[in-house]
Amino acid sequence: MTDSADYDPVCGMQVHDRRWVTTYRGREYVFCSEGCLALFRRDPALRLSHKGERARYDLVIVGGGPAGLTAAVYASLQHLHALLLARDLGGQAVDTSRIKNYMGYDLVTGPELLGRFRDQLLAQKYIEHRLDEVLSVARVADGFALQTRHGCRYEAPAVIIATGMHRRRLDVPGERRLLRRGVSYRLVHELERYQGQAVAVVGGGNSGIEAATALSRLGCRVTLISSGPLTGDAGDIARVEAAENTVVLTDHEVAAIEGEEQVNGLRVQPRGGGRERFLDVSAVFIEIGYLPNTDCVAPLVDRNRDGEIETGRDCSASIPGLFAAGDVTNGFGKRIIIAAGEGARAALAAGVFVRARQSGTASVQGPA
Ligand SMILES: Cc1cc2nc3c(=O)[nH]c(=O)nc-3n(C[C@H](O)[C@H](O)[C@H](O)COP(=O)(O)OP(=O)(O)OC[C@H]3O[C@@H](n4cnc5c(N)ncnc54)[C@H](O)[C@@H]3O)c2cc1C
Repeated sequence: MTDSADYDPVCGMQVHDRRWVTTYRGREYVFCSEGCLALFRRDPALRLSHKGERARYDLVIVGGGPAGLTAAVYASLQHLHALLLARDLGGQAVDTSRIKNYMGYDLVTGPELLGRFRDQLLAQKYIEHRLDEVLSVARVADGFALQTRHGCRYEAPAVIIATGMHRRRLDVPGERRLLRRGVSYRLVHELERYQGQAVAVVGGGNSGIEAATALSRLGCRVTLISSGPLTGDAGDIARVEAAENTVVLTDHEVAAIEGEEQVNGLRVQPRGGGRERFLDVSAVFIEIGYLPNTDCVAPLVDRNRDGEIETGRDCSASIPGLFAAGDVTNGFGKRIIIAAGEGARAALAAGVFVRARQSGTASVQGPA
């Protein structure tokens, strides 16, 4: 099997089992699903050169996390001619080892739960999917035009933005270079390796305090650094401040993370200037929150102070035909079950919008 045959030529996904295979011009191609195989058979030449493709759909969904995947399944169930564009299928929680709050499961891993979401998408008839990044969403006469990193352009009267969030970075020297070499954005699974060592946690909110508490219980000597006062739950603040092996540095900022192959220290200074101090630590856990992924759509929609897309109760954004679902919105509660629910709602509302457009009736889309 050649390298290229490991990737589905229609959607770009890596294929691990050889259930759907075909031969074209003497070469074997493998597909992730019956749907991709069928699309390939219809026009192999087009599918092999789909760079620069232009196509029109009823609906384009951007994002392959719980919100986007659920929206895609709901779009397919309504027989909308829809396309899902995503950098990956799974989203933020795909590597999580313990999900305890998804209905129907006492405990499930991210790979298992999101794998089931993905399989349900791949089994759908009416939706196409492609691994690609949407760079921009612009208004055109009859809806929206989406431009992708692979040079493709797609148009649709309705779009659902389900692009989730990414971790906020400190943007200090050493941070990127030492990522996974002592710098991490969440508590890593094999925490025991830091037992008894000096470590730093950056972030004075709930996540930072939780991380500091967990590390101190493990016997680490912890410095918790916050650019302002601690803002977590009062009980948790009291607990972390009382811990003997924890030092809390409020109103301090990280100036740089140091180390060659591995983190060996951190430079901090008082907020607003002052003398830098060196902290001798072997790991830095950064817990300073998340930012919504709205670059591709930011100029088009109303967003709140946190940059989240403002949505009405039908998941509609501030312009007709544009919907948003999941962590990228101003909806309360960043959870898988909530993102999935919003994905379903957005797809149902987009379906009503598209049908109304097709029949020439007025749109029912409206704000809360
Ligand atoms: C480590 C961790 C553990 C978690 N554990 C739990 C838990 O136990 N229980 C729980 O309920 N929640 C948990 N969460 C929260 C949960 O993961 C999120 O609430 C949920 O994933 C949000 O889903 P979403 O679809 O809105 O966004 P995401 O999951 O963030 O998915 C966004 C998708 O959009 C894609 N994307 C982004 N920008 C573009 C673009 N321009 N073009 C194309 N694609 C794009 C991304 O690649 C991704 O596929 C956890 C989160 C993390 C980080």
